[in-house]
Amino acid sequence: MKRWILFVIAFVFFVGGVVLFCNFPHGKQKICTYEQTLFYDENEHVIDGKETICFYNYTDNALTSICLHLYPNAYRNGAKAKIVSLANYDKTYPNGKSYGGISIESVSHNEDYLTYEITGIDDNILKINIGELYPDDFFEFEVGFRVKLANVNHRLGYGENTINICNYYPVLCVYENGGYVTDLYDSNGDPFYSMISNYKVCITYSSEYTLASTGSQETTGEDGRLTTTIIADNVRDFAMVLSKKFDIINEKSDGVNLQYYYYNDQNSQSTMEVIKKVLNMNKKYGKYPYENLSVVQANFVHGGMEYPNIVLISDSLSDYDTYINVVVHELCHQWWYGVVGNNQYLFGFLDEGLTDYNTAKFYDVYPEYGHSSEEIFNNASKSYANFVKIYSDVKDDFSTSMARPLNEFDTESEYVYLSYTKGMLMFASLEKLVGTKGLDSCLKYYYECYKFKIATPDDLINCFNMASGKNLDSFFNSWINGDVVIGEF
Ligand SMILES: [Zn+2]
Repeated sequence: MKRWILFVIAFVFFVGGVVLFCNFPHGKQKICTYEQTLFYDENEHVIDGKETICFYNYTDNALTSICLHLYPNAYRNGAKAKIVSLANYDKTYPNGKSYGGISIESVSHNEDYLTYEITGIDDNILKINIGELYPDDFFEFEVGFRVKLANVNHRLGYGENTINICNYYPVLCVYENGGYVTDLYDSNGDPFYSMISNYKVCITYSSEYTLASTGSQETTGEDGRLTTTIIADNVRDFAMVLSKKFDIINEKSDGVNLQYYYYNDQNSQSTMEVIKKVLNMNKKYGKYPYENLSVVQANFVHGGMEYPNIVLISDSLSDYDTYINVVVHELCHQWWYGVVGNNQYLFGFLDEGLTDYNTAKFYDVYPEYGHSSEEIFNNASKSYANFVKIYSDVKDDFSTSMARPLNEFDTESEYVYLSYTKGMLMFASLEKLVGTKGLDSCLKYYYECYKFKIATPDDLINCFNMASGKNLDSFFNSWINGDVVIGEF
């Protein structure tokens, strides 16, 4: 090769290194990186934040804009989307209606302001104009934002016992099929969808509080305030909970630091045992690939909520049996949602059905809790049959198809029966067809293939076909499309 060609190549690489690549705290990786500096004002219930995002163009297209979800805007006054169904209104707003929201203070690149608009169906999207970014190139930009927390027992809000700081920041929309996925928040399900990324978050808050979060923490303090720096790599989202009331149990199991943050649990040590048991049980699908895992009690309207490395468990569940069940369910999500991702807005049944199946199998591995998957599947098939009977009597166009967007379920119970119950029964029925070991090897293969990625229902079916050596297309399609009639288990 001629010397001048080498020189040109070297020059291009040098310029590329300066112009196109970001400062990577963990070396150059082809994923997006978030660095946040946050200050929490406990009197105003406001988070002032600055977020530097290094966006990696993982698409095949030259992009002229970057879109981010503004999930906190679902909490604002006048939002079209309701944060919860009417049935959960009183539990969510213990002190009456309260509003929050997010405002964008600035968007810049190398200290030059970028043009942007707040758009989407309901001011739920931040769209930033970036010129032209080619595939495999990087673009670093900074967003200044302010989040106001509502007085709500929900994912983002302050309550009597905890301050839940989840889905609080502008998060990159997933780009697929030639565009950004910009679905609006929905009171049904977990209406979130994001890619695996690296995070470095630095939050300052009053020293009266204890912080639970995704990732590994380091805390320093002065003048009554604490600053915690958190590193979390290869995670799909980032979440935190603050409380003045937390007791903590720390243990280590299989190389993972386990934390249980609680303030109302007579059986806290038994709960820690459950955490260890789930970690141990799910090794057969694939090792938990992070250093930390936290279970956090919180004022929360639903039973629980999963985030990477951290799960929230409601402090107002009816009994300890239910409490354990929610802990197991949310922890199983670490495998099905956290590590293996899917579009939760379009295919909620994929992670919820699988997680509920995984949860039912916990009772076979650990019979000391007095349940079995057989009992759970039997009860579920009966209550599902009742649900179908009632709904088909009442609704002319009633369908039992599972693959539909969250906003196409008329009620929360319709979503729950079709995504959780029917989803679980689909995997239970498959277990009968391919055997327990057969299904375990399908799930192991699925986990391996889609670890840190996003899977669609077709991806799952293809994986299961490969792993089982059977053609399961019509099995899955009849369940997903709503053609199957579910009998006794
Ligand atoms: Zn779930």
